[in-house]
Amino acid sequence: MIVDYHMHLRGPDNRPAGRYSAERADEYVEQAHRAGIDEIGFSDHIYYFRQSKHLWDIPWMLERCGDDLDEYVAAVQEAKDRGLPVKLGLEVDYFPGIEAGLAELLARYPWDYLLGSVHFVDGFAVDQEPGLAHRVPVGEAWRRYFVWLRNAARSGLFDALAHPDLVKIFGMRPPGEETLYLHIETADAIEAAGVCIEVSAAGLHKPVGELYPDRELLVACRERGVPITLASDAHAPAHVGRDIARAVQLAREAGYETVTVFDRRDRRQELLG
Ligand SMILES: [Zn+2]
Ligand SMILES: [Zn+2]
Repeated sequence: MIVDYHMHLRGPDNRPAGRYSAERADEYVEQAHRAGIDEIGFSDHIYYFRQSKHLWDIPWMLERCGDDLDEYVAAVQEAKDRGLPVKLGLEVDYFPGIEAGLAELLARYPWDYLLGSVHFVDGFAVDQEPGLAHRVPVGEAWRRYFVWLRNAARSGLFDALAHPDLVKIFGMRPPGEETLYLHIETADAIEAAGVCIEVSAAGLHKPVGELYPDRELLVACRERGVPITLASDAHAPAHVGRDIARAVQLAREAGYETVTVFDRRDRRQELLG
């Protein structure tokens, strides 16, 4: 079984009509089929939906809260009802202090899984320039990022953590002994929280040019029995399943033989490949 559980259905800004539709989902399924993916899951950004607007204080997010979450959920549900191999997910930004508000919003919809993401730390973007890694020394950026990621894991809101070491996106990293400590501490927290981590090919197409997460973090997770999902983080149909084979290869090298499949927030393990 090969899944791709991280992709964005949202259409381009210049084509607002049918931005979330079962017809658009069809295009993702067709590309998944070509890429040898058995099942895909949509995980659109929570901050694009007006139902989430009350939760944020980052201007970049507040400017984007125009879409209707009901429309997105209905589009994916329609695709499911047609028998397509798709799952309903959401990529949810974690911030300390909004857990109750997130839980209240998320409880209204029939998710198959929820991805937890850390895109902003202490008001600084993690994956935009200039961002966290440009504002504080790199070791401090990594330390703060992983504190937030561990808190996301512990929040109990999420089934899997997306692009788990996103902080490396620009290729800046502290010395090896510092990253080892952060990876071990993070793997311990992920194990204790009982969440999965994503092996994502998205980083191959960012300045760092690597998969997320680092092999060292993935091996530490494997040693603790933390399950994985697989991700392309496609923002258009053409990128569904892109470089998933590289993610599968890294997972195998780390000792993984199974991948997680979600149904209505229950999870099971299926043989990888
Ligand atoms: Zn993300
Ligand atoms: Zn994403």
